Amino acid sequence: MMCQLTKAVLLAMVFALLIACSAEPEGTSALELSGEKVAQKRAEVVVYSARKEHLIKPLFDRYTEITDVPVSYVTDSAGPLLARLVAEGEQAQADLLMTVDAGNLWRAAEQGVLRSLTSEVLTANVPKNLRDVENRWFGLSVRARTIVYSSDRVTPEELSSYEALGEDQWRGRLCLRTAKKVYNQSLVATLIAAHGEQAAEEFVKGWVANLALAPFSNDTKVMEAIIAEQCDIGIVNTYYFARLKNKNPEAALAIFWPNQSGEAALGRGVHINISGAGVTSAASNPEGAQALLEWLVSEEAQQIFAALNHERPVHPDIPPSAEVTAWGEFKADEIDVAEAGRRQAAAIMLMDRASYH
Ligand code: FE
Repeated sequence: MMCQLTKAVLLAMVFALLIACSAEPEGTSALELSGEKVAQKRAEVVVYSARKEHLIKPLFDRYTEITDVPVSYVTDSAGPLLARLVAEGEQAQADLLMTVDAGNLWRAAEQGVLRSLTSEVLTANVPKNLRDVENRWFGLSVRARTIVYSSDRVTPEELSSYEALGEDQWRGRLCLRTAKKVYNQSLVATLIAAHGEQAAEEFVKGWVANLALAPFSNDTKVMEAIIAEQCDIGIVNTYYFARLKNKNPEAALAIFWPNQSGEAALGRGVHINISGAGVTSAASNPEGAQALLEWLVSEEAQQIFAALNHERPVHPDIPPSAEVTAWGEFKADEIDVAEAGRRQAAAIMLMDRASYH
């Protein structure tokens, strides 16, 4: 009886030992697996993007194809994405923030969600006025915000500058997008930089006096109102013009490059802005995010990136697409695009004083 019991205990002990021994390698392999998962997660780059999926997916697919680095992304409007990054703080999932307008990039940097980078590729391929002075964000494409007019009711000879859209001849003939959109805040910021606040306010008051209708929620509606003969001129980003023209080639609409001549401030050139990106402060894969950002300013990516949205590459050696080139060359305002951010608050208050809403 005793002997049987001892046997049973011994057997149980051997069994337990066997389980322990067999459990050991299992435990190790589980650890290895989670290690592998961490490594995989490290290789992946997570992007928060205010650019729509169809404008970024072809690029990320191509990047994964040539590097094997997976890129995942969340798309939303610029404001909510920045708010999410700020709210998530250290826990933020994103390694890279992509958004539009230097005003938004500037605000992201001010709120501390972007980190300063050291990269010869980025500083060589992105002109100085299209990136942050502390290298926290970099332009990826250039968009012009220019004058659009009815080719039935306006001749280009009647047009000259953004400022002149406030003159009496345009009374009841101007359509604008809302002042709540960062694009017009950035445009007004450059008016302030060029003329000072007081003069800029007079110009904006002139625009408001000339409005045919209350400001619209987007650029496309501005052009549709011109087509519908509700107004004759407006200010839009050229890629919206391209989209409309691709859908409706017969539309009697044309674009005009303002501020090409005149004394210093008036001859400063067309207002340009950027889409751009920066590596987040909370990035768990900052090296991967920087490598992706550097690839986005490479010659190959620049051609794809700009053409996807009918924009111009930031890379000075890459020509724009044939469609964009067909609009003709123009002199661009060479102001540091960060001014759009620095003067954003002043621009918003100025537009409010001028009853531009
Ligand atoms: Fe846009």
